[in-house]
Amino acid sequence: MPTPVPTRDDMIRWLRTTEPEALQPLFRDALDLKHELLGRKVHFRGIVEFSNVCAKNCRYCGIRRDNKAVERFQMTGEEIMECVRWAKEAGYGSVVLQSGERSDAAYVAFVEGTVARIKRETGMGITLSLGEQDVTTYRHWFEAGAHRYLLRIETSDPTLYAQLHPDDHSFDRRVECLRTLKAIGYQVGTGVMIGLPGQTEDDLANDILFYEAIDADMIGMGPFVVHRQTPLAPAADGFDAGRQLYRALTMIALTRLRLRDVNIASTTALQALHPEGREMGLQAGANIIMPNLTHTRYRRHYQLYEGKPCLDENAAACRSCLEGRISAIGETIGYGEYGDSLHFARRTGGASGGDEA
Ligand code: SAH
Ligand code: SF4
Repeated sequence: MPTPVPTRDDMIRWLRTTEPEALQPLFRDALDLKHELLGRKVHFRGIVEFSNVCAKNCRYCGIRRDNKAVERFQMTGEEIMECVRWAKEAGYGSVVLQSGERSDAAYVAFVEGTVARIKRETGMGITLSLGEQDVTTYRHWFEAGAHRYLLRIETSDPTLYAQLHPDDHSFDRRVECLRTLKAIGYQVGTGVMIGLPGQTEDDLANDILFYEAIDADMIGMGPFVVHRQTPLAPAADGFDAGRQLYRALTMIALTRLRLRDVNIASTTALQALHPEGREMGLQAGANIIMPNLTHTRYRRHYQLYEGKPCLDENAAACRSCLEGRISAIGETIGYGEYGDSLHFARRTGGASGGDEA
């Protein structure tokens, strides 16, 4: 019998369920559906967090502009290439470039040049996670060789969005950016933070409906994890890590059951709450993991939230640790494959996601 698609009311009911035991049937259904549609495969996206310089001031984020305690860094093109070449040799099909948000001409050109170089020298799949940009920039980066873009909506509720951001950050602009990215031809990913101060179960169910309405190809969402040097910290006082973790896992499972053929990342923030958080995400229906490729010397300066795991490990340690964890739960790693979103292939009438990278 096909797994039923949860309604908004079903989703709210599951999100209100606090007992981990009671959530297991939901996680099992989501995992079964993932196996049925995508197989027992996990794809890696090696992530390079190449700069923590940020022009924005999101109230939850540890590298926001006004956090003067952060030592700012910017990796060189060659340093990024070292990470990317390592990932290629390790058999990863794709890399993600992420940084704080900047839109100045020097930065835009640097990204464009780096993307072109990665494509030319490695042929790897390239995902960007570089915030809001204008259409020309998005187009140039696409033409240089990036084919996926992650831009979280953070919350689909405009009122909550306004509480989480200063007045010059615009919800409407963010939605517009998602539409622009799709029109250019990117595979588009979005997501939210789960368990934000002031966020309700109704909001979270609406977030999943937002993913559906925008017709996202990829979902990257994770628990909100407090960073003490941010304005939002007092509002998060007394948060329960266990509750945050299970609420995030519930969102992964519900998103799998509702959107079905999208790629869903099991994000590192899950592991900040539990040592096996990312494996738990895979067992709740996620199919993507983003191992960290960033040089160890920079990692501690890229803390969006506290408790970020593996700060002292290098990329090789991350790979072997993840391999062990993934085979322990009976899944295999799709080495040498892009692992593109099946949803994207279906909506564009293209080939499905198993191409050789
Ligand atoms: N500057 C880019 C990319 C880096 S931030 C951008 O904002 O899109 C990537 C993501 O980190 C954000 O989208 C946000 O959802 C997440 N993030 C920031 N602070 C966080 C926190 N305290 N807890 C959990 N996730 C956080
Ligand atoms: Fe900058 Fe992104 Fe953090 Fe906002 S979430 S402050 S844009 S790095």
